[in-house]
Amino acid sequence: MKYIFVTGGVISSLGKGLTAAALGTLLEHRGLKVTLAKFDPYLNVDPGTMSPFQHGEVYVTDDGAETDLDLGHYERFTHATLTRLNNLTSGRVYANIIEKERRGDYLGKTVQVIPHVTNEIKDRIRAISKNSDADVLIIEIGGTTGDIEGLPFLEAIREFAHEAGPRNALFIHVTLVPYIRVAGEIKTKPTQQSVAKLREIGIQPQLLICRSEKPLGADVRQKIAMFCNVPVECVIEELDVAHSIYEVPIDLQKEHLDDLVCRHLALKTEPANMADWKRMLRRLIHPRRQCRIAVVGKYIQLQDSYKSLYESLKHAGGANDAAVKIIRVDAEDIEKHGAAKMLRRMNGILVPGGFGRRGIEGKIAAARYAREKKLPYFGICLGMQIAVIEFARNVCKLKNANSTEFDAQTPHPVIALLDEQRGVTEKGGTMRLGAMPCKLVVGTHAHRLYGTTLISERHRHRYEFNNAYRDQLTAAGLRIAGLYAEKDLVEVIEIPDHPYFVACQFHPEFKSRPNEAHPLFRGFIAAALRTTR
Ligand code: GLN
Repeated sequence: MKYIFVTGGVISSLGKGLTAAALGTLLEHRGLKVTLAKFDPYLNVDPGTMSPFQHGEVYVTDDGAETDLDLGHYERFTHATLTRLNNLTSGRVYANIIEKERRGDYLGKTVQVIPHVTNEIKDRIRAISKNSDADVLIIEIGGTTGDIEGLPFLEAIREFAHEAGPRNALFIHVTLVPYIRVAGEIKTKPTQQSVAKLREIGIQPQLLICRSEKPLGADVRQKIAMFCNVPVECVIEELDVAHSIYEVPIDLQKEHLDDLVCRHLALKTEPANMADWKRMLRRLIHPRRQCRIAVVGKYIQLQDSYKSLYESLKHAGGANDAAVKIIRVDAEDIEKHGAAKMLRRMNGILVPGGFGRRGIEGKIAAARYAREKKLPYFGICLGMQIAVIEFARNVCKLKNANSTEFDAQTPHPVIALLDEQRGVTEKGGTMRLGAMPCKLVVGTHAHRLYGTTLISERHRHRYEFNNAYRDQLTAAGLRIAGLYAEKDLVEVIEIPDHPYFVACQFHPEFKSRPNEAHPLFRGFIAAALRTTR
């Protein structure tokens, strides 16, 4: 296996994760098998307990790990299936070490950052390799070079690369080359300093990916090459993309990133044929139609909170030859101004996942509006629970029906905890998590869209459809379209007499790819487009 380490310099939010993912795309298109991992220096054991306002979306893998949203990019840009091994935090590293120390595994030794923390990190790299048959492992180090908490990770990858040998490991540094408007100049000094910081700890990056809003120019490239100690062709420009993040692989290919990587790592392959990717891009960038989708949520200010969801909507747009204009609607605004006012000009309504009672009544009003006005509705996780509550209250006339998450005293707990969740007090990693099989009912919307009866989708929730109300709700016209057979849990509901009212307890957004839009998103956008005619 070959190892590529991607570090970041100057500032965060440079799109390091996207860059690593895009490199994965290029290498896959050269016929290589890739896998990717993210190492994050923060002290949470995993991002599962962090608010989406803090850290953006929590991405869930098949094996039920709650991970950094960059893993979502990795899976969307490549065909890698990632596991809980592919995301490591300082919190996890220390938790492991302290557990071993308490067990007495260190046999009386003093436990230290070097070598114990660094060894733990290196062991993880080896574990990922052992668990994967990929040719190349790309590891992104979170944070910015110079951060105190990042040092053990940098030392660990330095040691690892040294042990792996020069043709087996490669360092790529993603850095910012800012354009100073008042001076009309591009500045290389922050990049020089960031690379100097890496060299101080013994890492000489072989490739520099320079994020910039202006083209670099030969003189700037020369200067960076000279002062960062790399050949000039190893200074790679990465401009802000014009239309879509899926342009990044194409832009980096033009700069010969994949050629350089393969040369450094002595990987002999054909050049990447990106024809399929370019076709997909054309569809995304030049759509013939348009629709407006309201995403009714709580975490709407922050672009990253519903990352996979927004991407899935774009993929579904591409598959329908349409631009999806996403209108983020704060559920509390619906409570204040009413659903009719906030949702009037929409072609479809999506209620995504969420936690806590704030905004709940606004979401219920949105579901009711969609049901009554026959506007396409797509509910995901909390969005399904909302649809069930709405149906119970307004169709079955179960007054004050609710989820026990929001009203412990509700007379009609149509959404409730299973017994196995009742005793749970720890928050970290204790929800129903990861991929589970679901059986679809023949003849339903969902079955038609998936084209199969057995699917597997990922979960992240505690509360469930309460089977005590199943007969009452279905008698009133709610259709159960999918079940987790082993535990007889409702996974998909629909309203048959409606253009598109589909909601699922799982998170389909984690499995959509730009070239393979998810069936439920595809069907939702197709239905939304029908309302534009
Ligand atoms: N809060 C709900 C639950 O825990 C929904 C979770 C979600 O939407 N991811 O069941």
